[in-house]
Amino acid sequence: ALTWTRPDQPLAGRTPFPTEGTPLSPDGLPVVPRGRFRVVIDPGHGGPDPGAVGIGGLRETDVVLDVSLQLARLLQARGVDVVLTRTSEVDVDLPPRVSLANASNADAFVSIHANALSMSRPDVNGIETFYFQGGSSRSRTLAAALQQQMLAISPGSPDRGVRTARFFVIRRTVMPSALVEMGFVTGSLDSRRLADPSFRRRMAIALATGMLLYLQGQR
Ligand code: ZN
Repeated sequence: ALTWTRPDQPLAGRTPFPTEGTPLSPDGLPVVPRGRFRVVIDPGHGGPDPGAVGIGGLRETDVVLDVSLQLARLLQARGVDVVLTRTSEVDVDLPPRVSLANASNADAFVSIHANALSMSRPDVNGIETFYFQGGSSRSRTLAAALQQQMLAISPGSPDRGVRTARFFVIRRTVMPSALVEMGFVTGSLDSRRLADPSFRRRMAIALATGMLLYLQGQR
């Protein structure tokens, strides 16, 4: 069954974002017209499907849910309507994620993931973003905006590029869509970062920045 809600927790009362070493703060997020845009955020995996499991037992599902919920609140604070395909540790099949997105009349869709290779390859790190070439012509623009911002907060993590793929959620969604891989849970550099709550917060800010810059270009 598909369970989702629109998170409505206000930003007030939450721990302020750290500024030391943080290239971006929520205050500096790009501004878009309030109430003008709707975005679907798809935290990959969930529930009995933990996604990739990496160094120290770091689970993709935990990383992507945390970043996704923070991303949702950041976008909401900028007046963007947000639809999440899941808000807790539940498993949602791919077709209902796409159905929800396609029924939402959204301006953009982003699926949030972390990569994995083998536990014997901690040397492999990096960030990549996928789009479906046969979909909306704006998908590549969206993917590039997200990739650029993720790289900016991940020094030393290789740029694996903006690439085409045929993943179900980006192939079947009708609006501009992208799937981000925020790093390797099996990578020595990326996993240490993805396990760090302050890095995940910076990652959420980076993704919000990329999304808002993309939306600015769609006015
Ligand atoms: Zn994944």
